[in-house]
Amino acid sequence: MQDPDCIFCKIVKGEIPSYKIYEDEHALAFLDINPINEGHTLVIPKNHYETLDEAVADEIPALFSAVHKVTKGVIEGMNPEGYNIFTSAGEVAGQVVKHLHIHILPRWSGDKFRFIWPQQKLSEEKMTEIKEKISSAI
Ligand code: 5GP
Ligand code: ZN
Repeated sequence: MQDPDCIFCKIVKGEIPSYKIYEDEHALAFLDINPINEGHTLVIPKNHYETLDEAVADEIPALFSAVHKVTKGVIEGMNPEGYNIFTSAGEVAGQVVKHLHIHILPRWSGDKFRFIWPQQKLSEEKMTEIKEKISSAI
């Protein structure tokens, strides 16, 4: 289940090179070609899904098990002070490559990465309404 035009599918098939970190039956991890910090790694399912919600549920445990293994490798190998793990879905969220990928980003104090985090307070009524919308959809 690969998309012939997808750059990450091409990496899975070995059609384009990557700095491979880890591979198993379901997942592949490789260095980000334009790292935010040294050791910035991407973990992907071998099958092509655009986003996390589109992936087959059965494959998620294997994907996040790979994320866990690779995170430990990044910690051991790069000795960061911390790390962020994230995925972007949709252009609005900044997704560029349309093949699900989990970023593992090692962090050091003084690095240039910034999350902009404009938090707000919502009313109890609004919070309850939102809770209902999401929980009833699961
Ligand atoms: P997104 O914004 O879609 O979450 O991030 C895509 C990431 O993939 C970017 O950080 C970008 O540097 C990385 N990337 C894009 N093309 C390639 C590639 O051909 N090889 C590798 N290793 N990384 C890539
Ligand atoms: Zn793909």
